[in-house]
Amino acid sequence: MKTIYLDNNATTRVAPEVVEAMIPYFGEFYGNPSSMHTFGGQVNANVQEARAKLADLLGASPDEILFTSCGTESDSTAIWAALRSQPDKRHIVTSRVEHPAVKNLGEYLAKNGYRTTFVPVDGKGRLDTDFLFKHLTEDTAIVSLMWANNETGVIFPIEELAQEIKSRGIVFHTDAVQAVGKIPIDLSKVKVDMLSLSGHKLHGPKGVGALYVRKGTRYSPFLIGGHQERGRRGGTENVASIIGLGKAAELGAAAIDEENHRVKALRDRLENALLEKIPSSMINGDPENRLPNTTSIAFEYVEGESILLMMNEHGICASSGSACTSGSLEPSHVLRAMGVPFTAAHGSIRFSLSIYNTEEEIDFIIETLPPIIERLRNMSPFWKKAGQQSA
Ligand code: PLP
Repeated sequence: MKTIYLDNNATTRVAPEVVEAMIPYFGEFYGNPSSMHTFGGQVNANVQEARAKLADLLGASPDEILFTSCGTESDSTAIWAALRSQPDKRHIVTSRVEHPAVKNLGEYLAKNGYRTTFVPVDGKGRLDTDFLFKHLTEDTAIVSLMWANNETGVIFPIEELAQEIKSRGIVFHTDAVQAVGKIPIDLSKVKVDMLSLSGHKLHGPKGVGALYVRKGTRYSPFLIGGHQERGRRGGTENVASIIGLGKAAELGAAAIDEENHRVKALRDRLENALLEKIPSSMINGDPENRLPNTTSIAFEYVEGESILLMMNEHGICASSGSACTSGSLEPSHVLRAMGVPFTAAHGSIRFSLSIYNTEEEIDFIIETLPPIIERLRNMSPFWKKAGQQSA
């Protein structure tokens, strides 16, 4: 059975060109980039080339990029850097719909001597900016807001927010793990202080990420150790993965146009057809301001997990809007923060596409999913009850 992979916000296929670029660094070029000899020096030069490619994708300068082990480490580094370099400030601001990499750190800080404000969103997942600005104080060390949401694809207005937050002298970090490679980013124009990204979300390998730190930003390392990354992150570099991330960034820059046209058109076709064919279905999130590859669709009165299992039998991979916490299927914190009704949040499915998806795959899902939903609804007492009420 062929796999039809529409779960690219979870992770992406490593591009074959990326794999090819990485292989020599497991064999021929195994030197340590910190070594004094030419053998290590060559590897160091290649790491710097990868840094330059990533900087190009972001409109940054190579010395503003430091490599990390993942998006989560980049997020933690940014937030701890802002807190440690301003020890007199004890307040952080973030949103209610952040990835756990930021959300759970915010909650941890709130229990450990800091104050965390979680800014709400509206029913479409749009940030309440009035609430945000009202809650910035002299004590605020950092504002950390995601560029694009991993579940709904909703994009926050990072450029405008950066201007306003920076004008108050507050450090601004953005978790751009889902945005990099999908929408154009130019940090020469968008004045964030720090930005996190992750290799495996843009057809690079897992276990490598990066943090952009604008020149002049207060900074204190998270991993204290050797002099690597110019003293900003200790630990011998994950060379092969860094080379892979550099290649992924180069390919990503070339593919942005395709993401925003062909991939977006496939997403729209899937979404429109499913909404048309399946009654009581709706989009979660602001349809006007979303990543081109993502759609989160609520199919009312069915369980997302059952949909996933039945799609899985046809080789279709997607995600649901629930989180398996403590054995119960709670709707995700993102959908809850948006106030999506329980009956819709439970039946929400996220489809996230990539440049590797084809029209045939989309057609197959359009054919396969409506009967699945119908079958599940025929077994659902809630659906029957809802039908009786509206009859
Ligand atoms: N931030 C966002 C928005 C994400 O979607 C993810 C991963 O899903 C992360 C952070 C964490 O990235 P990583 O898996 O590289 O730690």
